[in-house]
Amino acid sequence: MYTRILLKLSGEQLAGKFESGIDAELAAWLAREVKKVADTGTQVVIMVGGGNYARGAQLAGHGIHRVTADHIGMLATMMNALALTDIFETQGVPTRCLSNIFAEQVAEPFVHRLAIKHLEKGRVVIAGGGIGRPYLTTDTAAVSLALELDCQAVLKATKVDGVYDEDPSKSNNAKLLSTLTYQEAVANDAIKVMDKAAMGLAMEQHMPLVVFNAMTEDSILKVAEGQPVGTSIS
Ligand code: UDP
Repeated sequence: MYTRILLKLSGEQLAGKFESGIDAELAAWLAREVKKVADTGTQVVIMVGGGNYARGAQLAGHGIHRVTADHIGMLATMMNALALTDIFETQGVPTRCLSNIFAEQVAEPFVHRLAIKHLEKGRVVIAGGGIGRPYLTTDTAAVSLALELDCQAVLKATKVDGVYDEDPSKSNNAKLLSTLTYQEAVANDAIKVMDKAAMGLAMEQHMPLVVFNAMTEDSILKVAEGQPVGTSIS
């Protein structure tokens, strides 16, 4: 059983049945899934992506500088973080949104001690704005924040059940891998579960990663309990 975990949710997942924006019904379901974990006493940090609105790498060009595009991407994560915070609280999960970009009218600034205080009081902490700097994704931000907040693992939620030896959308023979080393994950270009920067940081700092499907009932709880769900990278 982990005592503190970081859950990485992508924007695409939050969009659920929609092309973009947030599927509020699905977010409420996710809140209830996270509540099951919080009710066991495990502290939960959430890093949320922004791909349902904007991704810097895709937006850059045609007159938009990469740094500006990444700023827009970070603002996208902020929109998700704000919406999730409200939805979580509506579902009875005490939650605070801490922002890694200056946005004091809309969220408390991310301060290490404040984040720890909220977690110790049993509140879910949702980080907005990634890690606040460009040329990064929320995957890398997730690993970095997990290290900063002393989380025991990063739970990377995906649409599929974990890491496969081949792309499951292209091959019927793709096999789900239950364990993987960081080295194998970094060396294999077919494995695109997390970007290389995120994987490299996790490898260097020995931060365990679990890649799993969060959209099935009790899966977040099972991973938090240390049950073998999805793919464990260590
Ligand atoms: N981003 C950034 N710094 C960070 C985190 C995110 O610049 O620390 C930007 C980057 O442009 C990224 C976008 O925010 O593409 C949205 O995050 P991400 O692509 O990771 O979202 P996801 O794919 O998980 O929905």
